[in-house]
Amino acid sequence: MEDCRVTECTRCPALVDSRSRIVNGTGPTDADLLFVGEGPGANEDEQGEPFVGRSGSVLDDALRTAGLDRIDVRITNCVRCRPPENRDPTTEELENCRGYLEREIAAVDPEVVVTLGKVPSEHLLERSVAVTKEAGSLEEVRIDGTPRRVLLCVHPAATLYDRSQEETFEEAVERAAELAGVTESEGGQSRLDGF
Ligand code: URA
Repeated sequence: MEDCRVTECTRCPALVDSRSRIVNGTGPTDADLLFVGEGPGANEDEQGEPFVGRSGSVLDDALRTAGLDRIDVRITNCVRCRPPENRDPTTEELENCRGYLEREIAAVDPEVVVTLGKVPSEHLLERSVAVTKEAGSLEEVRIDGTPRRVLLCVHPAATLYDRSQEETFEEAVERAAELAGVTESEGGQSRLDGF
């Protein structure tokens, strides 16, 4: 399969200044589920892996509730370099990184793409999204010409600020696992596709 790691990039001057490294996606390159976040935060920038801070723990917990583990899914971000002071990536930065994300989505070819929060939802759907209202809904979207199933989800950090988002978040992750045909069974996780 095509290598979807980015090892060198200087397209975004502000991000080149603020990053300590490029944070590539992790997880199987043939995963059924691909989670897309906004961009690396301080922990991710330090460790070189998406969603390893507090948001990552929320995601890990929801995956476990759905009978999955982090190593079963692919996790990546719209931009691969940490924006200064954790600001949102700009439209230009999102565009600069878009090709890398498209290449990763094409290579992994997941059953379902899950957008974690407003930024990735709007970036992939190319429209405004009221993510709290729309969390859990599924849309077919053309990404680089290929129709993809995209499930909208709130950002895991939203559950830390607003406990009422916990259920919304967990339900969306569970729906994603069901849609991808990767669900819990007695004695552990099983992959149902192919049966
Ligand atoms: N938030 C994101 O959107 N991505 C990460 O990798 C971590 C936190």
